[in-house]
Amino acid sequence: MELTVLGSGGCMPIPRPLCNCGICREAREKGHPFRRTGPSLFIHGDNLLIDTPAEIGTQLNREGICSLSHILFTHLDPDHIEGLRVIEQIALDFRTWRGIPEKRLTLLIPRALMEHFGEITTVYGPWLDFLEDSGFAVCREFDSTIRLGELKITAIRVPGSNPPVFIFVFEKQGARIVYAPCDIKPFPESRQQVRHPDLLLIQPGMFEQGLAGDFRYPEGHVSRTTLYTYDDTLALAERLKADRVVFIHLEEYWHRSFSDYMAMETDNITFAYDGMPLAIP
Ligand SMILES: [Zn+2]
Ligand SMILES: [Zn+2]
Repeated sequence: MELTVLGSGGCMPIPRPLCNCGICREAREKGHPFRRTGPSLFIHGDNLLIDTPAEIGTQLNREGICSLSHILFTHLDPDHIEGLRVIEQIALDFRTWRGIPEKRLTLLIPRALMEHFGEITTVYGPWLDFLEDSGFAVCREFDSTIRLGELKITAIRVPGSNPPVFIFVFEKQGARIVYAPCDIKPFPESRQQVRHPDLLLIQPGMFEQGLAGDFRYPEGHVSRTTLYTYDDTLALAERLKADRVVFIHLEEYWHRSFSDYMAMETDNITFAYDGMPLAIP
């Protein structure tokens, strides 16, 4: 499987608008790979995109991607869906204001996510209805697994998450990738499909030291309900026995630069950057 991490950032891009911190200033000065945009992944060959952050149009252009057929969604937090308009931008025929049939995208949506998707509206009503009625997209709901040719996708709901959050497992030709970008606590680590993956793409959780202004997360802080600490995540990855771990969804407020993350890398643990190519096996 060949992948590209289109966006390695989280809900705060780097540089964060108007921010004058050292991390953001350095990103403005040095550009790529110090800059980070919102969380998204592309699987080549299957032409599958996972999530549509605000910068998705720019990300697709930047990587020279010229074929896209399916979009899969992990959950509906704004940092993962605020670029939904890319669907219309890709498929619109300005002459008819309808979708060009060959450019129509298929949206793969876990069934439990579907009812919540209906709550996302525009002035034209529910966004999904608008996309479907205009011929820009078709929705394909699925329960736990769906196949795209040789690619098998398994959706695993983060236990107790509501609105639901999904972790995806991608399997093809004997290779297995686990994609867990956001709000993954409690991680469903007893599920066989997430154990011993060839590649684990996962958010690092919260860093407890080195934050701006020496902020320390108190016990009971709201972020602790959906985020592990970085040490917890390292221990989780160890228990899962992933061959390779790549950290994604790297927030501006972790207050770490591209070079800081590089210095933390080991043989099998790396930190993503925008445009990072990955090939498994
Ligand atoms: Zn900043
Ligand atoms: Zn997120």
